[in-house]
Amino acid sequence: MLSKLFFCVGLLLSSSLFAQGFELVGQLTQGSLLRGELKNGSELKLNGKDITVSSEGYFAVGFGRDAELSQTLSWKDASGKLMQKTLQLSPREYNIQRIEGVAGKYVSPPPEVTERIRLDNSQIAAARQRDDDRSDFMQDFIWPAQGPISGVYGSQRVFNGTPKNPHYGVDVAGPTGTPVYAPADGIVTLFVPDMYYSGGTMIIDHGLGVSSTFLHLSKGLVEPGTPVKQGQLVAEIGATGRVTGAHLDWRINWFGERLDPALLVPKR
Ligand SMILES: [Zn+2]
Repeated sequence: MLSKLFFCVGLLLSSSLFAQGFELVGQLTQGSLLRGELKNGSELKLNGKDITVSSEGYFAVGFGRDAELSQTLSWKDASGKLMQKTLQLSPREYNIQRIEGVAGKYVSPPPEVTERIRLDNSQIAAARQRDDDRSDFMQDFIWPAQGPISGVYGSQRVFNGTPKNPHYGVDVAGPTGTPVYAPADGIVTLFVPDMYYSGGTMIIDHGLGVSSTFLHLSKGLVEPGTPVKQGQLVAEIGATGRVTGAHLDWRINWFGERLDPALLVPKR
């Protein structure tokens, strides 16, 4: 008997018959986290690269802002037969602002902080490399804060033809002190109150490389190493780091791959 492979595209569910014991949920598009279940199978790979499957049989894969549109998952079924599925991602259109004839406002950081920035980046990268055998990422994520959306994933400014770094988070505007809740179960793996760019920075690990990062916090309320439940108060919004106003910048990563948090939560 064949079970179904589910591709959830927005609220539309399309399905195709596929291998027994293999299920995949998520939007087939750039910036997306796909979550799946592999029962009685082994050796899952994405484009030939090993993907960990949790002891409960769940896995996650993520595709970055400008990911290749064709992605190949392969695994061995219970009988050892090699199975393969090519995923066709839809391209995203990002909000690109071209600004001509305006003097760039970018100021390079003073030399005395370059070592601090390097340390910040290496701490963040290390926290995102964890591959914990937990399946917290399978939950339906909730918004971590209330407030208007003031910035979206993938947007980018091009000054006089020079593209600046894209924005990888979703920004929720709110006054300093606005509560920030865990969007899913996890473990707080990092809290640093004063990173150079991102100010108060917290990372919650949701298992198998899936993590949430919160930037510009005024307060962290949970010590690193502590497990948290979805909806638990973990921090407060702030205006710390290099920002112009108080907001929460929420990021979702699959290891080093930066994904769009807005694809995981109800539209608003
Ligand atoms: Zn932001």
